[in-house]
Amino acid sequence: MIKLVANHSYAVEVGNIIRLFYGKVQIEVINQEALEMNQSFFQVEGILLHSILKSDNSSIAVRASITSKETIMEYSEVFYMVSEKQKKEAVKLTMYKLLSKLLDKRFPWGILTGIRPLKIVHELMEHGHEQNYIIETMQKSHLVSSEKAKLAVEIAARERNFIYPIDQKTVSIYVGIPFCPTRCHYCSFTSNSLKTCGNLVEDYLTALIYEMEQTHAVMNNYKLKVQTIYIGGGTPTSLNEEQLDKLLSKVFELFGSSMVEFTCEAGRPDTITEGKLRVMKQKGVTRISINPQTMNDETLERIGRAHNSEQTIKSFELARKMGFDNINMDIILGLPGEEMRHLENTLEAIKRLQPESLTIHTMAIKRASIIHGQSNIVKQQGNTSEMMRNTAEYAKQQNLRPYYLYRQKHMIENLENIGYCKPGYECIYNIQIIEEKQTNIAFGADAITKTIFIDENRIERQGNIKDIRLYIERIEQQINKKFKLLEELYK
Ligand code: SF4
Repeated sequence: MIKLVANHSYAVEVGNIIRLFYGKVQIEVINQEALEMNQSFFQVEGILLHSILKSDNSSIAVRASITSKETIMEYSEVFYMVSEKQKKEAVKLTMYKLLSKLLDKRFPWGILTGIRPLKIVHELMEHGHEQNYIIETMQKSHLVSSEKAKLAVEIAARERNFIYPIDQKTVSIYVGIPFCPTRCHYCSFTSNSLKTCGNLVEDYLTALIYEMEQTHAVMNNYKLKVQTIYIGGGTPTSLNEEQLDKLLSKVFELFGSSMVEFTCEAGRPDTITEGKLRVMKQKGVTRISINPQTMNDETLERIGRAHNSEQTIKSFELARKMGFDNINMDIILGLPGEEMRHLENTLEAIKRLQPESLTIHTMAIKRASIIHGQSNIVKQQGNTSEMMRNTAEYAKQQNLRPYYLYRQKHMIENLENIGYCKPGYECIYNIQIIEEKQTNIAFGADAITKTIFIDENRIERQGNIKDIRLYIERIEQQINKKFKLLEELYK
């Protein structure tokens, strides 16, 4: 347990910085005024941290300190700035510098703990700043490493070709299929095993199609244009051929007329058949994703993937034979038991297949996963940053360029997920969903619709129910909420 005494309202953000250094530790926040009024209840057993901010008209002074049995240390800094946002950054920065010095640790994304580190870069670009200035700012103000700052600027510059010009009436569509044949041990997504929930698939599809049809009518009234479609999950190809046909026919019929990109995840090679690939091809799918995660069979078994590398290769070759010319592959760095030689084997196998894009994920150990709590597995990791560098080098050699990036909580070594592709194969959906400049209308259990109010720099969200049975039962209620959200933006 860590006690944090703060005299400002950014204790949550400072807590995120503390967790960078101490992991998933419990933090008790104590208001400084309350502490001064009643010192008697206060006893320190573990680590006591202070984050204290004092301001006048033109500057703020921030002090961070730590007291424990082993150490007493303090770090303070004066900032000549006044905005609320900058105050928040200052208290994070000060705590980071204190703990970094004490524990001799630095993190590649510095004090950026959010999912979308490139938003800052885009904001600076919108204000007309040069790339060198942005790189410097990322390093100085957010303590991002030079390597990551340059990467962020490179990707943001590439993304802008797809994000702009912004048309508020152009949207993207997400359709979620929350079923998988079995549950991978690291999974924290909305995924239900077909073994236990297979009997719900038909009713789920009925509700999902109803949600799409009703919303489509409203979208037509507002004259919305669909740019991209993404069918994700779960694993969409865990549907049988007939079910997949029914779903994709409807999606294409409702949203296909103006779209420029139609992705269907075929993530698990054990769900891919010639028939399903034919259906996808016939119904206008332009991009699929076949995800090995690793090409090492012993790891696949360890993480509960229920397929082997041979199946991945066969599925990929079959997809090529059926005419798919835009295939993505996902891999994960930091899987239990994997070392550099395993990664090299995976990249070598992928090189032979030559996918148009490769998405590199860093293992994130989340509470909802089976792997969570198996601390022996987590401790085995240690060279994931080096693996990330090697994949970047591999991508360069293969003429795959980084085109989108995001982060998640609890990622090993506080790294990132990064999408690479051959020039011209950027997945526009991925860019739009991460940079949040385009409204996304989402269907299915746990799907989140986001409306973007560009002029106000505001985002509103409506999340569908996660539980499949309740999603089916209360479909009308969720559709009405979605209508309200769309009405606010488009009426
Ligand atoms: S295939 Fe993906 S969504 Fe399904 S269980 Fe595995 S990680 Fe989760």
